[in-house]
Amino acid sequence: MHITVIGGGLVGVTTAWYLIEDGHHVTLIDRASELAAEASHANGAMLHASHTEPWNTPRAIGQLLRWIGREDSPLLLRPGELPRMARWGLGFLRYSQPHHHARNTGVNARLAVYSLAQMRALEAMLDLDYTQRHDGILKIFRSSEELIRARADTALMAEAGVRHQELEPAAIAAHEPALADIQQTLSGGFYYPDDASGDARLFCQRLGAIAAERGLVLRLGETVERLVIRDGRVAAVTTSAGDLEADAFVLATGAEAPRLARQAGVRLPIRPVKGYSATIPVAGLEGAPRLPIIDDGRKVVITRLGDQLRIAGTAEFAGYDTRVRANRVAAVLNQGLANFPALASQVAPAGVDQWACLRPMSMDGPPILGDSGVPGLHLNTGAGHLGWTFAAGAGRVVADMIGNRAPEIDVTGLTLDRYR
Ligand SMILES: Cc1cc2nc3c(=O)[nH]c(=O)nc-3n(C[C@H](O)[C@H](O)[C@H](O)COP(=O)(O)OP(=O)(O)OC[C@H]3O[C@@H](n4cnc5c(N)ncnc54)[C@H](O)[C@@H]3O)c2cc1C
Repeated sequence: MHITVIGGGLVGVTTAWYLIEDGHHVTLIDRASELAAEASHANGAMLHASHTEPWNTPRAIGQLLRWIGREDSPLLLRPGELPRMARWGLGFLRYSQPHHHARNTGVNARLAVYSLAQMRALEAMLDLDYTQRHDGILKIFRSSEELIRARADTALMAEAGVRHQELEPAAIAAHEPALADIQQTLSGGFYYPDDASGDARLFCQRLGAIAAERGLVLRLGETVERLVIRDGRVAAVTTSAGDLEADAFVLATGAEAPRLARQAGVRLPIRPVKGYSATIPVAGLEGAPRLPIIDDGRKVVITRLGDQLRIAGTAEFAGYDTRVRANRVAAVLNQGLANFPALASQVAPAGVDQWACLRPMSMDGPPILGDSGVPGLHLNTGAGHLGWTFAAGAGRVVADMIGNRAPEIDVTGLTLDRYR
């Protein structure tokens, strides 16, 4: 079959890879001049099956409402966005009920565990280097209430195969000596030995290059403007360079996916949720961590990528505004560096690489994979804060579905028909 993948982020590139492996003729179109130009460019770099709880807990919704308009808060709802997100917001609220939240944590964890195994297999097969580390991830807590809540989520993830070890503050400092200075302020944490980390942009660009050597046609700098529906199926797309026919299309345009899907009459319950990252050079500096760390209370993740340290976080409901706001990046950076006082005193503001982009967030948490309900159009989007973690697994699952093969995992809760 000739299959066109629309979108060249993590999700589009991995899907294209598995489709090429299956022997299809594959074209990938992206409006940017390089792969991984948007959400997959400078994310938190964590492959974390340990972080698969959806963001819509009743507590998070309370915080979101309390912090409306507060520029320094980790969750920020811009009032102008409220009317546009009313329908999605109601769903977000509804799915925060404990039984939905627990189920969706399990659905995400199932896909994440599978995905990390697929990543390992890809790495081994292709000898891929994307500054990856398989050292596990630490999650730290200051409040004992949060630690207790996290035990419940961790137990749900464990059912899906996420291994973990609970740690006292002293054991946290033993795992990561860079945290020794703040050890007294911690209530405890977890270590997840099977989690990993790595540079998503490098991964995308390297996998894309290998796929291109094996026949993937890359059309970069080309925007898909319209889906062409003929006889009830998506038969072609109109792009900034003309029309392109194919037997099937995969929509992998991240936060933009609802806009194109709507043209085929498909309503995707996905909203953009903006995040920021700060990347700093740490070669020669003292006190930088080696292990990836999730600081749950401060809502930041901290990841070492070779000689750099990436700090990422915040969830900002601000529509499709992708502007990098220096005050928001500074807030993320300061929250992250507060864990490493020795390092913080050596970081020069001029060396900070600032970035922002939009997570494609479904209203219930899991991504939306496979059949769109319209012949010729397949979906791979909505991965929210987990798109890097899910990329390989979701790509494999969607390629299996297109090839009429049963995916290797149960896809209940991962397809569009869960909303019907
Ligand atoms: C601050 C931050 C930190 C994060 N940290 C992590 C993390 O540590 N671990 C994790 O698992 N996930 C993380 N994520 C989430 C993850 O980065 C995203 O879920 C993932 O990148 C989404 O990938 P994607 O391919 O769906 O979207 P994108 O990477 O945005 O790709 C979509 C592509 O579609 C293209 N496109 C859109 N419209 C069109 C069109 N009309 N025509 C042609 N091309 C089009 C865009 O140019 C873009 O390249 C983080 C996200 C953010 C914002």
